[in-house]
Amino acid sequence: MIPDSIEARIESKVRAGERIDADEALQLYRRAPTARLGRLADIVRARKHPDNVVTYIIDRNVNYTNVCVAKCNFCAFYRPVGSPDGYVLGFDELFRKIDETIAVGGVQLLLQGGHNPDLPLSWYEDLFRAVKTRYPSFKLHALSPPEVIHLSRLSQLPVTDVIGRLIDAGLDSIPGGGAEILVDRVRKLLHCYGKATSDEWLDVMRRAHHAGLRTTATMMYGTVESDAERLEHLLRLRALQDETRGFTAFITWSYQPSNTELGGVEATGIDYLRTLAIARLVLDNFDNLQASWVTQGGKVGQLSLAFGANDMGSVMIEENVVRAAGAAYCMDEVEIVRNIEDAGFTPKRRNMHYEILGDPIFRERDVPRMLELATARRDGDPSVPSELRLYPARSRTGKEARQ
Ligand code: SF4
Repeated sequence: MIPDSIEARIESKVRAGERIDADEALQLYRRAPTARLGRLADIVRARKHPDNVVTYIIDRNVNYTNVCVAKCNFCAFYRPVGSPDGYVLGFDELFRKIDETIAVGGVQLLLQGGHNPDLPLSWYEDLFRAVKTRYPSFKLHALSPPEVIHLSRLSQLPVTDVIGRLIDAGLDSIPGGGAEILVDRVRKLLHCYGKATSDEWLDVMRRAHHAGLRTTATMMYGTVESDAERLEHLLRLRALQDETRGFTAFITWSYQPSNTELGGVEATGIDYLRTLAIARLVLDNFDNLQASWVTQGGKVGQLSLAFGANDMGSVMIEENVVRAAGAAYCMDEVEIVRNIEDAGFTPKRRNMHYEILGDPIFRERDVPRMLELATARRDGDPSVPSELRLYPARSRTGKEARQ
């Protein structure tokens, strides 16, 4: 327990909208009762969102390739170069996914994938241009900072140039994936220091914000980090947000251990709610916090709305990464809206910039129910997109396949 006088002082700072420091945050995170932590986080949420609205976005989470040279030990999704289970989606497959997304009212693709050495920067540029030609108003929320760094290394171009070329091709915003914990001790233990150090991850976001892009920020907790390192991560995000104001939202989720090299057990629901709440208190310069029902399930996702979250994230049409590690929760728009309303909030559709697009679309027109998550590719489908032959491969197996 925190001494009452200290807890009262921190609580009065939160109520007054004052910033809490690293030591105060750590004391709260370690010692405050969970219900009290939730109440404090809810004060911040209600101050930032006094209209009682909880938002969500209809988009599609597509992983364009599972081939990856990074080999993070917490990842159950990737396949090494040359694996028979490796895939790259073709442009036509991606167009079909966009058509299906638009049919259920979707406005954007969240596009992320492995670090595939056989996909040069020109493949991404041609894909983005092709999407924008066919679907001019459809948004591309694509390529997390480690993917941008991978493309910078592959093309031997500075990160700023890669971001500029992707923007010219149609990139609208950057997702905050690949942050894991922004502490290099942790990143080395997770074998993700090589793909991006903490400074490199933050630097991509800084450059993206300077280039005019808005981005999100994430934290995957529950591997090898300490509670103090989780807070260090949050404080580093807060410092960059002070500098650029470029982050639209923060999303945290627990490590999913099934089928990973690292193994271990998943963090509990209370750990999730406490971590979300402390994030709401520390990230006082972030407007939006998402509930991660994709990893926590709908019921804890709904509870998140009492622990600092003001957004239910995305209606999940497709999911590959979390599913590979054993979790496959599915909620379509009807179910997300039911959870929001049952928690006493007003549901509104939004875009990536958190601009309100309207009421639930299923109340405006008939949309197909999505009761099962799609996957990037059907299991065992070995097809190789014909356009891949147009792009130079870097790996030996890739070169042989494209001869
Ligand atoms: S987390 Fe991303 S970068 Fe790491 S192995 Fe998986 S796909 Fe590759």
